[in-house]
Amino acid sequence: MSNHQLPPLPYAYDALEPYIDTQTMQIHHTKHHQAYVDNLNKALTGSEVASWPLEQLIRNLHQVPEAIRTQVRNHGGGHLNHSLFWNMLTPNAPATPEGDLAQAINATFGSFESFKEKFTAASLALFGSGWAWLVLNPSKSLEISTTPNQDNPLTNNLTPILGLDLWEHAYYLKHQNRRADYIGAFFHVINWGHVNQLFKQALS
Ligand code: MN
Repeated sequence: MSNHQLPPLPYAYDALEPYIDTQTMQIHHTKHHQAYVDNLNKALTGSEVASWPLEQLIRNLHQVPEAIRTQVRNHGGGHLNHSLFWNMLTPNAPATPEGDLAQAINATFGSFESFKEKFTAASLALFGSGWAWLVLNPSKSLEISTTPNQDNPLTNNLTPILGLDLWEHAYYLKHQNRRADYIGAFFHVINWGHVNQLFKQALS
């Protein structure tokens, strides 16, 4: 029996105003994320992989029975991506990365501003729906990457450190077609302390 559940938001729905609006947060969490959870549970019902933890499913998609693999990829990926995303945001965001991650970003991209430019360019260049990511690759180097739909970097053996939801449902109510405005707003609410923790976990 599979019993994946919607995790509570770690802050109030209006906490990220004015950068991410209350109505978007409510619909995004209670409707979109809930639907990924419900559809994942439905797909896994009666399956031999029903008891697998979420990360194991996404990391080992090729071992998931083919009959439900696409549903697990889309809805399990959606559940994992959003669970990660909420914790990567905070109303009390520092302006720039902290600690070891700050040093690694400077070493990899030249400066934080240069990283921000490259991440923004990758986010703008993604066609259709998907995610932009800062990941750690198997050589333990930072990379910017994007995934289509609800694919997660773990499936490609990359560890996500920071992710940005680029589906229109994440920004259309406030920004309509102006994806660049949404990306700019996102940089005001990044939980760099948490992202630094994910970086250190991925390194160890
Ligand atoms: Mn979303």
